[in-house]
Amino acid sequence: MLFDSHAHLNDERFDEDRDELIKSLREKDVDLVVNPGADMETSRSAVELSNKYDFIYSAVGVHPHDVSNMTESDLEELKILAKSNDKVVAIGEIGLDYYYDLSPRDKQKYWFIKQIELANELNLPFIVHDRDAHGDTFDIIKKYKAPHTGCVLHSFSASAEMAKEYIKLGCHISIPGTVTFKNNKKTVNVVKETPLEWMFIETDSPYMTPVPYRGKRNDPSMVKYVAQKIALEKGISYEEVCNATKENAKRFFGIR
Ligand SMILES: [Zn+2]
Ligand SMILES: [Zn+2]
Repeated sequence: MLFDSHAHLNDERFDEDRDELIKSLREKDVDLVVNPGADMETSRSAVELSNKYDFIYSAVGVHPHDVSNMTESDLEELKILAKSNDKVVAIGEIGLDYYYDLSPRDKQKYWFIKQIELANELNLPFIVHDRDAHGDTFDIIKKYKAPHTGCVLHSFSASAEMAKEYIKLGCHISIPGTVTFKNNKKTVNVVKETPLEWMFIETDSPYMTPVPYRGKRNDPSMVKYVAQKIALEKGISYEEVCNATKENAKRFFGIR
């Protein structure tokens, strides 16, 4: 019933109970999860995890936090990982993060573009991380995304107007748990203004835990709170939100 389009189940915060947790997800109505990579090591472990569980899929890519020392041979390895594993359904997560600025901005942009070009080449969609870099992220996607390549803005944090511009480029919008936070009017507005057919839901677990569990470790079962909030704000049923976001993401990632 629920498709968590973005969860880091390979994160060390799941080391103690990973298998147990994953096995419990179906009882909690989660039937599909995409686990993106964030650096070379977690790209490898994401693929491994997706090869172990039929309902978990993976993406490979290097996050802007970790591009400082990225090399051409890393890019080549991402390509090999994607080409040689059926469960890899996207390149990601890739993008720009000017909030933490953990990597120099010129390197962030360079490797964001390179990884978009890899997605174009492999005919895979890509998953974008954008924090406080809304203008540059949009400009790069507009310039480098091939028309045939899918793109999703994960944990969308820009405005409803930006969401509209992204949809014009054929990009999807993924709504995170922060939409449940009391003062997050901006994301609530995105939910109200964005057509359901362009929307995914996600946890970004173990981070971004929604209300009422804010402060605790997040996991894919909590994606239901995102769906509930969207249903409430759009005035439609919970089931409709679950089904539509699941079908959207399945089509996008090419999952049958
Ligand atoms: Zn992210
Ligand atoms: Zn993430």
